[in-house]
Amino acid sequence: SDSRIKIRKRNDEIYDLTININKMLDRMQAYTNQQKEFVEDVSHELRTPVAVLEGHLSMLQRWGKDDPEVLNDSINSSLQELKRMQSLIQEMLALTRVEQIDSEYLDQTTEVKPLFTQVYNDFKMLHPDFVVNFDDDIQTGSKVKIYRDHLEQVLIILLDNAFKYSGDRKEINLSASTNSALLEVVVQDYGVGIAKKDVQRVFNRFYRVDKARSRKRGGNGLGLAIAKRLIEIYKGTITVESVLGSGTVFRIELPIYVEPESETETDKK
Ligand code: ADP
Repeated sequence: SDSRIKIRKRNDEIYDLTININKMLDRMQAYTNQQKEFVEDVSHELRTPVAVLEGHLSMLQRWGKDDPEVLNDSINSSLQELKRMQSLIQEMLALTRVEQIDSEYLDQTTEVKPLFTQVYNDFKMLHPDFVVNFDDDIQTGSKVKIYRDHLEQVLIILLDNAFKYSGDRKEINLSASTNSALLEVVVQDYGVGIAKKDVQRVFNRFYRVDKARSRKRGGNGLGLAIAKRLIEIYKGTITVESVLGSGTVFRIELPIYVEPESETETDKK
């Protein structure tokens, strides 16, 4: 009587358990595949700089002793290539770090206005030849649900891209506005733009429309992958619209932090 019901119940539990184990196995398999793809991508990305470095060192070995110009050029080029590899490694680490963000970050909030003022000032200082139209429609005291450094990182990635992919027209529009629910950020440039067939792929890791151009600018094709991952962790959205040859617009939305209602004036210390 009692035990039978229990067995039946236990059978249900075993059935549920099996389903859950299968789900877990699927997830583990997907995870393993992702890791494998990542290692493949990374190996592929490292191939170019390693080959270039090998080229410079061979030159050095063959002619460096007799030709001071070759000596100098090869050493300089090798060092430059090593710096590229260093920044690639750093960005890859940054990407793997954002894949596994500690949950403590998820509760963080950031006051919007001071951060934008700082990011805007930093950019102006780094690129004094750029016109940055900053349209600030941020309510004073407005906070977003994201860790400060993560939002800063995303803004820097977008502004840095606007800078890197601008042509002669060195002008960027940065706008930030808040309402009761959302922060909306727009970063617009009048640069090279992105063709329709490429535009949705720019968020893929290591994807570059023009590898040579990106490489010359010190790009690794990881910035937007990092930015997208960061924004999505905090339940925001990031989108892009672009017209080849005339410019690009990136748009971010992030949830505004609303103070819990229980926290009335008397509750506050
Ligand atoms: P990268 O280090 O190459 O800049 P990102 O992940 O930041 O890597 O960007 C991926 C690619 O998307 C770039 O290589 C470039 O082709 C394109 N892209 C990104 N931002 C812009 C922009 N503002 N204008 C034109 N193309 C852009």
